[in-house]
Amino acid sequence: MTAQLIDGNALSRQLRSNVAERALALKAKGVTPGLAVVLVGDNPASQVYVRNKVKACHDAGLHSVLEQYPADLGEAELLARVEALNNDPAIHGILVQLPLPKHIDAQKVIEAISPAKDVDGFHIASAGALMTGMPGFWPCTPYGCMKMLESIGYDLAGRHAVVIGRSNIVGKPMALMLLAKDATVTVCHSRTKDLKAQTLQADVIVAAVGKRDVLTADMVKPGAVVLDVGMNRNDEGKLCGDVDFDGVKAVASHITPVPGGVGPMTITMLLVNTLEAAERAAGA
Ligand code: NAP
Repeated sequence: MTAQLIDGNALSRQLRSNVAERALALKAKGVTPGLAVVLVGDNPASQVYVRNKVKACHDAGLHSVLEQYPADLGEAELLARVEALNNDPAIHGILVQLPLPKHIDAQKVIEAISPAKDVDGFHIASAGALMTGMPGFWPCTPYGCMKMLESIGYDLAGRHAVVIGRSNIVGKPMALMLLAKDATVTVCHSRTKDLKAQTLQADVIVAAVGKRDVLTADMVKPGAVVLDVGMNRNDEGKLCGDVDFDGVKAVASHITPVPGGVGPMTITMLLVNTLEAAERAAGA
C-alpha cells in the first residue's frame, strides 16, 4: 500500500479562501477581523513564525499588527501591553509568541489574555472549554489535525487513536479533540514502556514529539492514518517530522508530509480562530 498524502497546503488554501470570504462579509458590516502578534526578543525561529502569521492574515484580508519588543522587556510592561490589546476594539485575537524570555512568566502572560481573544487557545479557560465541550478556542495545531481527518471523511467513532506526546499545546488537546469525536484514545509519552505495542493497535496515530523517526513502519498497523506534527532537521539540515515518512507511507492509508502537512494548517486555524473571534464580537 502507498498511503495517500493529506496535503496541508491544498487544504489550507481551501480553508483560507473561506476565511477571506467570511472576512469580506464581516467587513461589509463594518468589522475588520484583527490579530495582534506580540514578539519579545530576537529568537530567529520565532521571527519567521510571526512573519508568516502576519503575512497569512494580510493575504486573507485580515488586519494584523506585529508588536516587537527587545528581550529585556519587563513582565509588567508586557502584561500592560496585553491589557491594552484586550481593550482595543480593532483587535479580536491576541497571540503572544512563545517561548518568552526566561524572566517572564509565560503562563501569567497567557492568563492575562482575554479568553474572548485567546486565538491560540492556550488560556486555562480555553483548555477548560475544550475539556468540557463548551464553546471556546481550540489550540491551532491539534485543531488543524482534526480538519485534516475531516478532509478525508474519516469517522473517528469507535476508532483507536494513539497520540504520542502530551504537551499542553499539542498532545493533550489533541487527545481531547479525538475523544470528543468518540475515538478511544491512548496518550503516550517519554515514560511509555512499549510505544510500538501501543501504536500497532492504532487506527490513527498523531506523532507530536520533536524527535526524528519516533514512528517507523514496523510500528504502524496496515491502513492506519498517520499525522506528523513534529518539526525536526535531518542530517542534511532539511525539515522533517517525527515519522519515518518513506517507510511509513508504504504501510499507512493516509499520511501527512513534513513540510506541507500540519505546519501550514496551524497558521490556517489561527486565521479561522481570529475570524471566529471577530464574528463572535460582532454578534454574527
Ligand atoms: P514538547 O512540549 O517538547 O512535548 C514533547 C512530548 O513528546 C512530551 O510529552 C514528551 O514526553 C514526549 N516524548 C519525548 N520523547 C518521547 C519518546 N521517545 N517517546 C514518546 N514520547 C516522547 O513538544 P510540543 O510542543 O508538543 O511539540 C512536539 C513537536 O511538534 C515538536 O517537534 C514541535 O516543533 C512540533 N510542533 C509543530 C507544530 C506545527 O505547526 N507543525 C506546532 C507545534 C509543535 P514527556 O511529557 O514525558 O516529557
